Amino acid sequence: GALPSRDEIRALVETAYARFRSERAGAVADYIPALAEADPDAFGICLANTRGDTFALGDAEQAFSIQSVSKPFAFALVCDALGAEEAALRLGVDATGLAFNSIMAVELRADRTTNPMVNSGAIATTSLVPGANAEERWQNVQQGLSRFAGRPLAFDERVYRSEAATNQRNAGVAHLLRGYQRLYCDPDEATDVYTRQCSLLVTARDLAVMGATLASGGVNPVTSEQVVAADTCRRVLAVMATAGLYERSGLWLYDVGLPGKSGVSGGIVTVSPGKGAVATYSPPLDAAGNSVRGQLVTRFLSERLGLNLFVSA
Ligand code: GLN
Repeated sequence: GALPSRDEIRALVETAYARFRSERAGAVADYIPALAEADPDAFGICLANTRGDTFALGDAEQAFSIQSVSKPFAFALVCDALGAEEAALRLGVDATGLAFNSIMAVELRADRTTNPMVNSGAIATTSLVPGANAEERWQNVQQGLSRFAGRPLAFDERVYRSEAATNQRNAGVAHLLRGYQRLYCDPDEATDVYTRQCSLLVTARDLAVMGATLASGGVNPVTSEQVVAADTCRRVLAVMATAGLYERSGLWLYDVGLPGKSGVSGGIVTVSPGKGAVATYSPPLDAAGNSVRGQLVTRFLSERLGLNLFVSA
């Protein structure tokens, strides 16, 4: 079935906001020093449907660095450029069941591929973004993600510098992958472009429109631009389902029944194919690095809007 009426959606978003506003569990990420300054009370929700209507509440216009929520959109650009089969061979698409920054994930499979939704696979993805050099790849990431959002996305220099000064672990993962011939450009350049990618500034409204683009066969419902092919979207949603919430991806699918992607700054985007997307912003995270309020809001809205993909009756 389709989404309920506009009034019903609006009322459900309001109920979700009121219900989870006082939730106090979780802790703001602090391994990237600039992220520790986030306001734990910031809380925004936005739902976008595939017709381009948006239903926003709270801090839905507050800008924050996209972090790992960039991963599905960067993968979409690479999958579109390389073809889905080649992308799967070079990056991997199976669940890792491990933390977002896991090094063990790289050692898990004989072919040393992981999944584009965790850091290792995402840095490898960024290394495959079309471009003759790091600057061109960065331009293509920024422009590509901006097409998903339907507006030019700015870049947070402060967050970038803060992470670049402290991301020795990601650099190590990139070099390890390079040693296995599973990174496809210079490892320091790949790490740098990936860190820039994570520092792009978005709002919950942007994430909802970006997710709704994946929900509508790659057509941005606000600008009507075909951003990526429809076939690419179904592949992106599949990898989100396998590893979008890292080691909690199984529980997420069990509870919510939709592909989602979280990031350590507190964003989550969740896609309902053919219908739309729910985006949330709330910085306090659980132990896996997933926004606590974001998970609660999304589970509530998925249930009340009847979005779970596995429901048959
Ligand atoms: N930039 C962050 C990192 O690589 C993104 C991680 C995340 O959002 N889970 O550590």
